[in-house]
Amino acid sequence: MGCIRNDNLPAGGPIAEVIVDVPVLGADKPYDYRIPPDLSGQVQPGSRVAVPFGPRKVQGYVINIKGKETHQGQLKHIEAVLDDQPPLTEELLALSEWMSEKYVCFRSTAIQAMLPSALKARTTKEVIESPSGEKQVVYEISDNVTARRVSYVTLLKEAKDVQRLLQELPKQALKQRAILGYLLEHEGKVMLTELLQACQASRSSVQSLQEKGIVTIATEEVERDPYAGRSFAKTDPLPLTPAQKEVFGHIIKAIEKEQFQTYLLHGVTGSGKTEVYLQAIAHVLKKGKEAIVLVPEISLTPQMVERFKGRFGDQVAVVYSRLSVGERYDTWRKIRNGQAKIVIGARSALFAPFERLGLIIIDEEHESSYKQEENPRYHARDVAIFRGQYHQAPVILGSATPSLESYARARKNVYTLLSLKERVHGRALPKVEVVDMRQELQSGNRTLFSRHLYQKIEERLEQKEQMVLFINRRGFSTFVMCRDCGFVLQCPHCDISLTYHKVNHTCRCHYCGHTERQLMRCPNCQSEHIRFFGTGTQKVEEALAQTFPGIRVIRMDVDTTRRKGAHEKLLHAFGQHKADCLLGTQMIAKGLDFDNVTLVGVIAADSMLHLPDFRAAERTFQLLTQVSGRAGRRQKPGEVVIQTYTPDHYSIQCASQHDYHTFYEQEMRYRFQKGYPPFYYLSLLLFSHPDLTYCIKAAEEAANWLKPRLSKQSQVLGPVAAPIPKIKDRYRYQCMIKYKNESQLSRLLMELLHYMQPHIAKYHLQLQIDMEPQVI
Ligand code: ADP
Ligand code: ZN
Ligand code: ZN
Repeated sequence: MGCIRNDNLPAGGPIAEVIVDVPVLGADKPYDYRIPPDLSGQVQPGSRVAVPFGPRKVQGYVINIKGKETHQGQLKHIEAVLDDQPPLTEELLALSEWMSEKYVCFRSTAIQAMLPSALKARTTKEVIESPSGEKQVVYEISDNVTARRVSYVTLLKEAKDVQRLLQELPKQALKQRAILGYLLEHEGKVMLTELLQACQASRSSVQSLQEKGIVTIATEEVERDPYAGRSFAKTDPLPLTPAQKEVFGHIIKAIEKEQFQTYLLHGVTGSGKTEVYLQAIAHVLKKGKEAIVLVPEISLTPQMVERFKGRFGDQVAVVYSRLSVGERYDTWRKIRNGQAKIVIGARSALFAPFERLGLIIIDEEHESSYKQEENPRYHARDVAIFRGQYHQAPVILGSATPSLESYARARKNVYTLLSLKERVHGRALPKVEVVDMRQELQSGNRTLFSRHLYQKIEERLEQKEQMVLFINRRGFSTFVMCRDCGFVLQCPHCDISLTYHKVNHTCRCHYCGHTERQLMRCPNCQSEHIRFFGTGTQKVEEALAQTFPGIRVIRMDVDTTRRKGAHEKLLHAFGQHKADCLLGTQMIAKGLDFDNVTLVGVIAADSMLHLPDFRAAERTFQLLTQVSGRAGRRQKPGEVVIQTYTPDHYSIQCASQHDYHTFYEQEMRYRFQKGYPPFYYLSLLLFSHPDLTYCIKAAEEAANWLKPRLSKQSQVLGPVAAPIPKIKDRYRYQCMIKYKNESQLSRLLMELLHYMQPHIAKYHLQLQIDMEPQVI
């Protein structure tokens, strides 16, 4: 295996420490490799390299270069350097070490999170025999995606000389004539494929022109930019309001002093936070530095992108999940080589390989999507603070509804609190009305719309104003039940009921995708009285059409926005007033800023409140506040109608009064009584296995190992069945660790992983460690 070329290297020479991209317990430590003399200039800390590892050749990352080792006679050597420039900076290397310790994950997994997928090792299905006879997965080096190169044909002669040449060419050289003619028409430079097609010519015709020194064929790199060819109207900074000025002043001071500081910017919806971000970034650019702006994926709307591109043009790189692998790779290189100065994107944009970072902004900092729910299970807030400290740059956490954790930290002066209490230029926050749906029911209204909301919708239709209707399908999905015996149709692989999809008359599991045909008879009692309960977007759409004949509705949910660009198209159509009503799930709760929207309706505010999650009230409050914020953002005042079965709940009451502080106080009391964050930390261990008894036994074994190793004040709760006790035919049990101060916890949990290794490797137990679970 490998090449023999370097096997007789003279001893001496430097050694590289390499993390191999093989995420297996035990392989996750640095290995020493010799650096052959012909690569010595290229191998640097942060380089991605190909190295032999056992019988395989894998990719790895150089984390350090050190001097001679005595035993280096036995060392293998680096076989190749895979990129022109090391993809990882020294800072990112340090960050990966910190992440692997803090979140108990492999160093290679942390590094993977930082790189565009084009550079990640691919796992293939192909298997090889390992020395011990076991079949193993091969981790292949990623060399499949590279820059896109295109061949161009360029005319080397002046136009008048070409005219003369055309006369000199033999009559039968029709193709060569056509080629020269086409080149003349197109300013002397055309893509080769285009030229051949336009002139119906073959490559050899171009080659013979090249041999005569008339044209040249050369390949050039073409950037894959999803925004190429789009123009954005240039915007100028707005004169700041006094409140904005004050906030801006604080941030500028920190930028000037190159001082790390975390600010919590608490500003009501429409208070001008984004304008402050834009002007702070302009300041950072003037100092020759770079900025990262994180927004939740769902609020990465065309409107948001337009605001940044409109102010800063091509210096802005946009990073989000819908980029193709190639687009992502090109965007990443634009950042790495310094062409882009500002990155705006979802969670992973936080790893932009900037070297002169001057500012990090996390907008809507309370969003749960800032927590990654797969390894490495990091929270963007913590990573941003690491980077801010490293670069001595300020970090701004912005929100109209800060997370309890962040607000509590601001109260304790761990973060600096800045606030914008009013909307720009005194525009009013919308008037919110809470409608008690129990009373509606008592007075005989069984429809989805209260009389109040019905009337408001009618008014809007008459006045030709627009509305946004919000329905949260997540916690209240339609389920299928037999009215005679109460049988509920469930997924055979997961402990969860199936959701009815009307379009194709199927019942689907939202966890594993299992699908069944629409039920005609109850499998339990053969009754035909099957009913579909709950409310989803599709059902509301249907009800709207029946109740308000002629209403034009744009529905936005996962089903209507699956295709690339669909999201933008729908929003654009709504902005053009092609519909009266925008109906959707969470994805419409944020970032939208439409002139003509004067009514926001929440069909069922309780749907999130009753989820088995200690953050349910906080999420409900945040969501209702965000949704309400979509109304009346410009000149026209807005109105909000919230329908609910629990009108007195404090999260609903406080949201309707735009009262963050009362909500905060009340929720903090509840968290204190129950011993939840931010008063205690929680970490979660999740065990899963196809066999229930085995799963419970393994979880108990782990809990018993852990308990005596924790300090007395800490608790291990469980093991108990997880909220969804079975997914994809695997049973799930969990332990919760509750603690105030447990500085060695990460290290202990890594030890636990090693201790449980026999179960994991031999018996396929899965053990997930989540240091800061967002959903419990
Ligand atoms: P937020 O990010 O807090 O929701 P935005 O920055 O989007 O607030 O501002 C809300 C609206 O007010 C936007 O339409 C924005 O263009 C406008 N706006 C913001 N700052 C100013 C200002 N200083 N003068 C005039 N209009 C402003
Ligand atoms: Zn039945
Ligand atoms: Zn399922």
